[in-house]
Amino acid sequence: MPVNNNSKSFINVNKGSDFPIQNIPFGIFKSKNNSKPRAGTAIGDFILDLSVLQESSLFSDPLINGKSVFSKEHLNDFMALGNTICNQTRKDIQELLEENNPVLRDNENLRLDCLIPVSETEMCMPVDIGDYTDFYSSKQHATNVGIMFRGKENALMPNWLHIPVAYHGRASSVVLSGTEIVRPKGQTKADDAEMPAFGPTKLLDFELEMGFFVGTGNKLGEPINVNNAGENIFGMVLVNDWSARDIQKWEYVPLGPFLAKNFATSISPWIVTLDALEQFKTKREEQIPEVLPYLKNTGDWLYDINLEVKIITKNSEESFTISRSNSKYLYWDICQQLAHHSVSGCNMRTGDLLASGTISGPDKSSYGSLLELTWRGSEPLKFSNGEERKFLQDGDTLIITGYCEKDGVRIGFGEVSGKILPAV
Ligand code: MN
Repeated sequence: MPVNNNSKSFINVNKGSDFPIQNIPFGIFKSKNNSKPRAGTAIGDFILDLSVLQESSLFSDPLINGKSVFSKEHLNDFMALGNTICNQTRKDIQELLEENNPVLRDNENLRLDCLIPVSETEMCMPVDIGDYTDFYSSKQHATNVGIMFRGKENALMPNWLHIPVAYHGRASSVVLSGTEIVRPKGQTKADDAEMPAFGPTKLLDFELEMGFFVGTGNKLGEPINVNNAGENIFGMVLVNDWSARDIQKWEYVPLGPFLAKNFATSISPWIVTLDALEQFKTKREEQIPEVLPYLKNTGDWLYDINLEVKIITKNSEESFTISRSNSKYLYWDICQQLAHHSVSGCNMRTGDLLASGTISGPDKSSYGSLLELTWRGSEPLKFSNGEERKFLQDGDTLIITGYCEKDGVRIGFGEVSGKILPAV
């Protein structure tokens, strides 16, 4: 029986959990009793070991049963099978976990082998990321930054409404949630200084973003069509694109961000599939001026995902919420981003990470960076314990969470967090 919004698992899932039977995200984990990284899914407070199910031939596809895609240390081989097989496999897992299905429920030995309490596990990097690209797809964010750097008259660059603007980032420094972030050093130049100075960034910031992984790519010279691009996208994660604003300001003209961004980008460990997010699709605002034909798509590819940013300062045990945003505020959707990225003929590959850019909503409480929340440091955030922040300090921990909710179904992403360590 296919799983629907009313289905339950025989595993108890608390109300408010990010991981009910309707989610079934994919990730890589290791456990206390088995230090080998392997594929799993999250169900309530358990991880289901997919490498065990693959050995037991419990899936419907012969490319998975008895094969090794789920015993690899990354999900790339699974993702490369394409969304038809990946989606069917996710449905197989849902049916195995369904409360009326005895196959796993009543097989105690198998259950003990493949269901592991989260407390006995550790998440690992889910994907071997070949390339990482970061877009700039929130109109509110681009407008805010434009006002700060160029004034109200020239806030949006003339190309912004025509091109999903992006830069090629650095895949080697994409790290998993929980990884500590060392404050970067670099060149900065104060407006009134004659010469640049070298040292730790004084303006360390976060960027609230979502990212998606390419499941199947395209051949060099054969662009992905905007109306088929969803078939090439495996799923989504939360992203924090850490940024050093003073380094950025001095280096970004003429070729864009470089060292201000390449020291770390953090992602959440569970990849939530587009299939799981299907019912949370939402209408995109009408794009005026009209976009060029290669970017014009039918169907909705923005998602109603609630996003929240919290900080735990070095002097506090409690967390303070500093922003509430939503991925529906993006101007360019994921299919437009992927179509634009490949329209030159650029070949996208399994495991490539494409992030949205900072997602800022219409008002100040929904801005996705400290640069905007404190308006370049001119309006510090004040917390209930009396502390203030313009930018991140050593010892601060930044946490981003995200979830969708509709008709009693909640599908979450977990979190992406990182603590700031002093410069070396
Ligand atoms: Mn960014």
